[in-house]
This record gives sequence, structure tokens and C-alpha cells, in this order.
Amino acid sequence: MEQVRIVIAGPRGRMGREAVHMVMNTERYTLAAVLDHKYEGIMLSELEGFQGYQVPVYSEIEKCLSEANADVLIDLTTPEVGMYHTKTALQHGVRPVVGTTGFSKENLAELAAICEEKELGCIIAPNFAVGAILMMKFSQMAAKFFKDVEILELHHDQKLDAPSGTAVKTAELIAEVRETKKQGHPNEKETIHGARGADYEGMHIHSVRLPGLIAHQQVMFGADGQTLTIRHDSYNRASFMSGVKLAVDTIVNIDSFVYGLENIIE
Ligand code: NAP
Repeated sequence: MEQVRIVIAGPRGRMGREAVHMVMNTERYTLAAVLDHKYEGIMLSELEGFQGYQVPVYSEIEKCLSEANADVLIDLTTPEVGMYHTKTALQHGVRPVVGTTGFSKENLAELAAICEEKELGCIIAPNFAVGAILMMKFSQMAAKFFKDVEILELHHDQKLDAPSGTAVKTAELIAEVRETKKQGHPNEKETIHGARGADYEGMHIHSVRLPGLIAHQQVMFGADGQTLTIRHDSYNRASFMSGVKLAVDTIVNIDSFVYGLENIIE
């Protein structure tokens, strides 16, 4: 089988580290290089936790992509950097698999346009956990029958964006099938600002940040005399890696922009 040559951006991060081990331990993948803004001209094996990994480390994406002969860039960094990396990868003919969250609608539209122009595949997946994708799909299914819904997303306290990409994506999927409805009492008033959470087309999203958590989401529906709760929990970052693999294996064969793993999971 032909090897897929991969560059990982953010290799020392919690997700990046897991992705490095996954790629190194997958026979059909080659880790061609890693991109780390703090190191240049060393081998990954010189960094803690990567013993024996003879992979070059670059701090500059242009140089990295010119020399690595990569097929795919996996980005697990921060929103601004991730956007820059994704655009640069597409300019170099490298297909991005992006797990970094916090991209705006404008960012997504810009990337979709570049993919179309370059006829290159790119996947942006706010959540790589297959169970989380099912949670979103089940929520969309339930929203056809329940118009009242509140989304509660819970993450570790180092997360930079709120609400989570998964919560936003869930709200978007629900909004596709649910008539817009302003929830709660028409005269409700917050006595402390933010008590009712963020408002997305009348449904509310609440973000919890606590040490000890990884990534969790609960979608609660209510109707006369009943509630329905759909919940997913990621207990470690390995839970995301089967989705990353699915994205890599898919993107090498497609030439279009995909937002959300649910679009390739059928
Ligand atoms: P993290 O531990 O903070 O890792 C981010 C990494 O990016 C750090 O190693 C950081 O380096 C590095 N970085 C920052 N600026 C950089 C640059 N200019 N060039 C290269 N690397 C740079 O965060 P994480 O928990 O791994 O999460 C990473 C992203 O994935 C976040 O957006 C998070 O929301 C998202 N995420 C997605 C999923 C999913 O399923 N799609 C799941 C979990 C998390 P320093 O340490 O030197 O700053």
C-alpha cells in the first residue's frame, strides 16, 4: 500500500502528541516532519516523550512543506495559526486535516473557496470522536420532535474557545431541522449577565470549564412531561484518533472542502 506522508503541526500539544504516536504506529503512514514554532533544525527524538522518532522539526511552514514532500497536514494548534497553516498547505498542494477549533464562518468560506479553486481536499473537523458525531446526529434527529433544547458542553480549563466547535456544530445541525424559536419565558431576565448562556437562533449553549474534564457534551430536549438527554464523553485524547485516521484516509481521495466528520462517516 502506498504510504501517506504526513506533517503534524503542534506536536507537543495534548492532541498533537497523541497524533504523533498514532501516525508513528500506523504502518501505512509516514511522519514526514513536524511543525513547531519553538524548534528548528532538530529531530523530534530530541524532544521529551518522542524517544527514537527520527523526524525533522521545522518552525516555518513554508520551508517545512517545501522540503517534506507531504500529502497531508494535520493541524492541532490554535485558531489563527491553524488558519494560516491550512491556507499555506493548500497553496502548496498539501491536503489539510484540521482538528483545531475556533474557525469563524468567514474562515470556513475562505477555505472552501481555495479548495474549489485548487481542486484539493480539506477536512475541518471540530470533533474527531465518532461517538460525538453520533451524538450530534441523534440530536438532529430528536430536534425534529422537540423544539426546546439546551446544549451543555464541558471541557478542560485550558481550552481557548467557547462555546466549543462541537457545540456550535450541534446547534447548526439542529437549526437545519428546527423552526427558529426563542426559548424560555418571553419576559425572562438575567440577573447575572450570561446566566442563560449563548443564544443560537433562540436555543441556549452553556460552556463549563474545569480541570479534570476532557471533552463532554450533553444535549437536553424538553417537552410537556418529558425530557430527553443525549450525552457523549471523551475520557482521553486517544478517543479522537480513529476519526483522525478516517479523515486522513478520506482526504487523500477527495478534491473538495468538508466541514464536520459526519459528512464522511456514513
Ligand atoms: P494544546 O495542548 O494547547 O496544544 C496546542 C499546540 O499548538 C501547543 O503545542 C502549542 O505550542 C502549539 N502552537 C501554538 N502556536 C503554534 C505555532 N505558531 N506553530 C506551531 N505550533 C503552535 O491544545 P490541544 O488540547 O492539543 O488542542 C489543540 C486544538 O485542537 C485546539 O484548537 C482544540 O480545541 C482542538 N481539539 C480538537 C479536537 C477534535 O476532535 N477536533 C479534540 C480536542 C481538541 P506551545 O505549547 O509552545 O504554545
